[in-house]
Amino acid sequence: MNIILLGPPGAGKGTQARHLVDTRGMVQLSTGDMLREAKDSGTEMGKIVAGVMARGELVTDEIVIGLIREKLSGDNGGGFIFDGFPRTLAQADALGDLLAATGQKLDAVIEMEVDDEALVARITARSTCGSCGEVYNDQTKPQPADGKCSKCGASNFKRRADDNEESLRTRLMEYYKKTSPLIGYYYAKGALTKVDGLGEIDAVARAIERVLDKA
Ligand code: AMP
Repeated sequence: MNIILLGPPGAGKGTQARHLVDTRGMVQLSTGDMLREAKDSGTEMGKIVAGVMARGELVTDEIVIGLIREKLSGDNGGGFIFDGFPRTLAQADALGDLLAATGQKLDAVIEMEVDDEALVARITARSTCGSCGEVYNDQTKPQPADGKCSKCGASNFKRRADDNEESLRTRLMEYYKKTSPLIGYYYAKGALTKVDGLGEIDAVARAIERVLDKA
């Protein structure tokens, strides 16, 4: 089963994708994670995208489609979770073509609905474990008092460089201008289901599970 988690920055796509990796053996394909890896390891592509990402703008379709193309022929375990991809109509078309070319299909597109105020609050409070990627929130899920990640025990917590108010404003604008048209695109294909992304992490996870059980 292959699914897309669609929603603005801070909607909880990464958190829910990680849950599905744990519970269903699915494979998370986060273009944001792939781009951050390229940036951190100083590859040519990483150098090109670093400034774009820091400003909160979108990286070119060509680059992200190339990243996804490389992964689609790999092992997909219990299916792919596309997290943060597609973000433009051109990327959505390319994904459809790539899946068809590799004999795969899209089973569900889940739109995670969250209001803008909640997004800003979530993102500015967000940190992650630098080793396993577990997501923490200063208010709702603070880093453990012993300074060790509750999932893997490491103690190198990170905050994303683009989780500041200025790039967040740009990221939200990019979402509304370029990514939100995908809601209509997938609705018209009969693939879209909306899930309330505002609840507790477990409640959102259960809502997503219900969608997948029916897909
Ligand atoms: P994310 O981790 O999904 O919030 O992505 C972080 C940043 O990576 C975004 O603000 C963009 O600069 C870039 N990025 C991630 N995925 C895409 C994509 N599908 N298309 C274009 N840019 C992307």
